[in-house]
Amino acid sequence: MATAAKSKLSAFDEVNIFFDKAAERLDLDNGVRDLLRQPWRELEVSLPVRMDDGRIKVFHGYRVQHNGARGPFKGGVRFHPNADKNEVRALASLMTWKTGLMDIPFGGAKGGVQCDPRAMSEGEQNRLTRRYTQSIDPIIGVNQDIPAPDLGTNSQTMAWMMDSYSQVHGHTPGIVTGKPVELGGSVGRDAAPGRGAVYVMNEACKDLEIALEGSTAAVQGFGQVGSWTARLLHERGCKVIAVTDVGGGAYNPNGIDVGDLLLHHATVGTVNGMPGTDAITTEELMELKCDFLIPAAIERAIHERNAPKVKAKVIVEAANHPTTPEADDILNDRGITVLPDILVNAGGVVVSELEWTQNLYQHQWELNRVNEELKKKMTSAYAKVREVVGQKAITYREAAFLVGVGRVASVVKLRGFI
Ligand code: GLU
Repeated sequence: MATAAKSKLSAFDEVNIFFDKAAERLDLDNGVRDLLRQPWRELEVSLPVRMDDGRIKVFHGYRVQHNGARGPFKGGVRFHPNADKNEVRALASLMTWKTGLMDIPFGGAKGGVQCDPRAMSEGEQNRLTRRYTQSIDPIIGVNQDIPAPDLGTNSQTMAWMMDSYSQVHGHTPGIVTGKPVELGGSVGRDAAPGRGAVYVMNEACKDLEIALEGSTAAVQGFGQVGSWTARLLHERGCKVIAVTDVGGGAYNPNGIDVGDLLLHHATVGTVNGMPGTDAITTEELMELKCDFLIPAAIERAIHERNAPKVKAKVIVEAANHPTTPEADDILNDRGITVLPDILVNAGGVVVSELEWTQNLYQHQWELNRVNEELKKKMTSAYAKVREVVGQKAITYREAAFLVGVGRVASVVKLRGFI
């Protein structure tokens, strides 16, 4: 894995650099800027968990509700060793701008627990999830704050969260999204962040004059987002030439069969050692010559040290905050197009909103309907961002933040609480 650059700024400071540029362009009042920059509410919890060996271990967890002007707070829960307060704040603020940009009726939030789920048994994860859910119970609710999966959590985690919440409040599927379909989850939610990213790439290809079919892509991360993105790109005739994950990497300049890679990954738990490929590190992947470089894992994967060496034409930010502001400037100066996280990976929260709606009506939609709605949302958000890029001669990220921040700021004024 690429070591993140040791920046003096926290991830939250970095996201606020992107926010401040938008606030300046929108000429927002200083008071409104202060209100939008800071989280509305933060909860920090200690989580004692009985481990399998009988010890009690205390984990640290957070739920940060960044902004709720446009609707209930919404955002995932991350189980990761780096999930500290500033990381969770950064990710919560990105959710505010993402839901604003996508024009869905939610605010932004994020949760995190500092732990390594890969080193924990299923029973330990179950007990930790329940303790976390009970601890944040006072501030979540179907109309208050709706958690979802993120790095290190999945539909099973959401099933435990829903069960834990429902033990106190009665059967409440709408308390989380990204649940298993059998428990009121939406079909198509698992694939949604990857599918949404590919819809955006499809639209961007028209403007960038790149044919997706026959193009080349390198993907960092093979979790839910990276694997679905790679799989759908492969189906569309894009050559996925390299993939890395925590266990290593696979490289084949002629393209990897992503169907076979999924089978290999399901068997050995990593993309490393895939037959017919050479080993590759994430550092090397970042410097590959290709059309699309797709960071789909942790934040700050592209920093000021590797940004000058990137040879891709387009960065597709499937992860949240994978590019530091310094790296962003370097890439822009070098003429590399960056399709930003709050647009590219918004498919997850878009289908979360569809899941929440289905739960409110106690109804389940068919896959075609979900995918059609997702496509409509992704293509219209891309079109809006593209229009602003053209009008103001700014980057895709600047345009995406301008739209997202602008929508939240106007609702803050309408609600009249300042
Ligand atoms: N964790 C995902 C994200 O960062 C999804 C959030 C959600 O569906 O609420 O966008």
